[in-house]
Amino acid sequence: MLRKFPKRIKRVVIKVGSSVIATYKMKPRSAHLSSLVEQIIQARQKGIEVVLVSSGAIVLGMGETKVKYRPGDVPSLQALAAIGQTVLMRTYDNLFKKVKANCAQVLLTWDDFDARHRYNNARNTFNAILERGVVPIVNENDTISTDEIKFGDNDKLSAFVASLVRADLLVMLSDVDGLYDIKDGKKKVFKEIKEITREIEGVATGTGKKQMSKGGMAAKLQAVKVATHAKIPCIIANGETDDVLTRILKGERIGTFFFERQEKLLARKHWISFGAKPKGTLIVDDGAKAALLKGGKSLLLPGVAQWEGHFAQDDVVVVKDKKQHEIARGIINYSTTDLTKIEDKKGQREVIHCDDLVLSER
Ligand code: GLU
Repeated sequence: MLRKFPKRIKRVVIKVGSSVIATYKMKPRSAHLSSLVEQIIQARQKGIEVVLVSSGAIVLGMGETKVKYRPGDVPSLQALAAIGQTVLMRTYDNLFKKVKANCAQVLLTWDDFDARHRYNNARNTFNAILERGVVPIVNENDTISTDEIKFGDNDKLSAFVASLVRADLLVMLSDVDGLYDIKDGKKKVFKEIKEITREIEGVATGTGKKQMSKGGMAAKLQAVKVATHAKIPCIIANGETDDVLTRILKGERIGTFFFERQEKLLARKHWISFGAKPKGTLIVDDGAKAALLKGGKSLLLPGVAQWEGHFAQDDVVVVKDKKQHEIARGIINYSTTDLTKIEDKKGQREVIHCDDLVLSER
């Protein structure tokens, strides 16, 4: 039986991990990539627009400069990314030319998603590239990304790109068959997941090829959360499967399918949950925790037991319980300095207004 997508797929984001792109000798897997490019072109001929998010810059940079082990320091990684990105794009460019098509390079950082005008600008650019029948190939701008503006892994980047271009589906291809359900020592792939619960997150295990890829299953599930909350269904599948993309788009039940959430988080709440980088943490007592979990309640000062980090007014902070479990994220009304100065800790001061607060488990 074929899979029925919630709506017709007109635009899809495909994310390919480093293990799909590079051989163990850290050179481009040309035959494999050639098949991927052909499948992308077939999709386009069927009227499906494709945006490709491709990792591989660092690993190909290592191959190019004969570096055996992934370095730990940032300047070396950034240099390798700069070297490898040209190998990556040269490979894609040649493959697209062979099938008489064009591709375009788009390098992004977190900043492009954090600032509204840049976000809109990036969306217009994607639309303009797609209108020309060209396939955008996206990677993180590793060479200039510092911790502050870094996505860190391309899984997350692909989810934000899917939301930016308003894709109808996000497909993440790596070296695993999907999300494994491990029971009594037996491994089986989940066909469908309605909601990512704590239990589901608990079964997430990492990918094998740590040397190459950054993500792992936990990172993939985080990315799935970002996308499904923006009402975009996702598929995690094995990039080694023959004609994987064509078959997925036909509806073959390959990999794990994650349903999109019923209600879309408002753009502002989506940004609080996933878009903004939290600047600090508030630890709340059990009373405040219970009140917040009921929903519709603001966080008041007496419920805050302690805080960590350095934040300004209007920054996003994480709210945790005493056991360090994340409960919510929200926009704080006070800076660290302000909080320290307030002497009357019992007053009903609103630290985070309920409209600016999003529960982490919905
Ligand atoms: N942007 C990195 C690269 O191209 C990959 C990050 C990841 O594997 O998620 O090498």
